[in-house]
Amino acid sequence: MTVVNHAAAGAVIALVIKQPYLAVLLAFLSHFAMDGLPHFGYSGYSEALKHRLTHLYIFLDLVGWFFLIWAMSGLPWLPYIAAFAAVLPDILQSSYRATYYFWLEKRGKHFHRGPLSKFHRWIQWGHYPWGILIEIAVAVLLISLVWKLK
Ligand SMILES: [Zn+2]
Repeated sequence: MTVVNHAAAGAVIALVIKQPYLAVLLAFLSHFAMDGLPHFGYSGYSEALKHRLTHLYIFLDLVGWFFLIWAMSGLPWLPYIAAFAAVLPDILQSSYRATYYFWLEKRGKHFHRGPLSKFHRWIQWGHYPWGILIEIAVAVLLISLVWKLK
């Protein structure tokens, strides 16, 4: 799912649940619930990069960020922390992949998925090109909610 959708979900959670620890924990867990929805994607990164729709998807993510940052302006720190927590599983995954690619692979180490990474992959059962419509609907809904709740 787009990074902005995860961040917006985290912000909405923090705007509804005002207890910091609970909000941040739920925001982190929301990542997996969001990834459990059918969403945009192809099987594998190299396949995805062959399609123009992937470029549109990246562009929409950036446009979404513009609206989310606008919607979040003036908010206290908690929604920002929760937004970060909601994106964290993807940050961990990417840093793990980068570490593997740039460091471990060159030392002849084999790619190993940890339990969280395995779960993260397993929960994303539904990657479809038409999932971009779900991504857009979720972005409009969640960013509007941030506007409404602030
Ligand atoms: Zn994810």
